[in-house]
Amino acid sequence: SIAVEAKNITKVFGHGKQHFRALNDVSVSIRENEFFTLLGPSGCGKTTLLRMFAGFEHPTQGAILLHGKDIAHLPPFQRPINTVFQNYALFPHMTVAKNIAFGLEMLGKPKAEIEETVDRMLDLVQMQAMRDRVTSQISGGQQQRVALARALAPSPKVLLLDEPLSALDYKLRKEMQIELKRLQHETGITFIFVTHDQEEALTMSDRIAVMSGGRILQVGSPHDIYERPAERFVADFIGETNFLEGKVSVLEEGDRLSVTLDAGTEGKQIQVAFDPQNSPETVQAGQRITLTVRPEHAQVFPIGSTSDDPIISGKLENIVYFGTDTHYHVKLS
Ligand code: ADP
Ligand code: MG
Repeated sequence: SIAVEAKNITKVFGHGKQHFRALNDVSVSIRENEFFTLLGPSGCGKTTLLRMFAGFEHPTQGAILLHGKDIAHLPPFQRPINTVFQNYALFPHMTVAKNIAFGLEMLGKPKAEIEETVDRMLDLVQMQAMRDRVTSQISGGQQQRVALARALAPSPKVLLLDEPLSALDYKLRKEMQIELKRLQHETGITFIFVTHDQEEALTMSDRIAVMSGGRILQVGSPHDIYERPAERFVADFIGETNFLEGKVSVLEEGDRLSVTLDAGTEGKQIQVAFDPQNSPETVQAGQRITLTVRPEHAQVFPIGSTSDDPIISGKLENIVYFGTDTHYHVKLS
């Protein structure tokens, strides 16, 4: 069932000439127990949307629903929703255990219950050995774990994470990605995770919402988003891809069409498989069209080296070695 829902959210900052529309009619439903990611470039409105869920920001129009109920009137501390901030926002002079206990003390929980919960949280994030250290004297990765434990301690229904791994170096970030998945799995809490890193989004999420310019362009599983991008922006932002411009020459029977590309085929037609589900419009002969081809779906070989006809020809301009793979840059003739 649905945990949180944004319904036709518009957010305008400022007034008159100074006004700026940070979110434009955004609707999205996030399921219970889901690892849901908001993905998009800097400035697209991810943090603004997250702050609406938390209650730090109010929509200009639209509603935020929690289990179907409008929560506009609930201040942040009364929402069963917690946030892990990018800078962790820990109390530097307090111990790890005190930091985790803080929110529970504010809620007026009994002492015994607080001790039990802090203990459980320290186990959960594997920080038991550090419990009496002050947080200014532990590493960035350890601070990250404490921030997570503190946010999870009051057992929120939803945990919001705003680019929580962006301050960590590559190795640690990879480790924490796995750790976050484990925590979400073990606690069963709905995670709404914000990142501008497409690889992070693909590897961690149950579903992803791709955002641009204050809008959500597509919501889907990592597989859907990667294999069936709904728009050019999505195809371009997620992974790497080639765009080939051309014109539909003949519509074939079934799921194929013939296309004359602008470059690389010397005017010859090429046949492509067409996924009608992928396109809302009906494609017509004569229509201009953009094909998107993932690099791993292309094979590169020297002309004349196989008996296959080259489909698209070009000049090899550059070879870049990446360790796990090698990138060939080909300029179409
Ligand atoms: P993201 O988190 O995707 O990088 P934000 O949600 O922080 O983007 O910001 C979206 C846009 O809204 C940005 O252009 C930002 O400058 C603007 N914005 C955010 N908060 C405010 C504010 N309080 N006042 C004015 N503009 C804001
Ligand atoms: Mg942000």
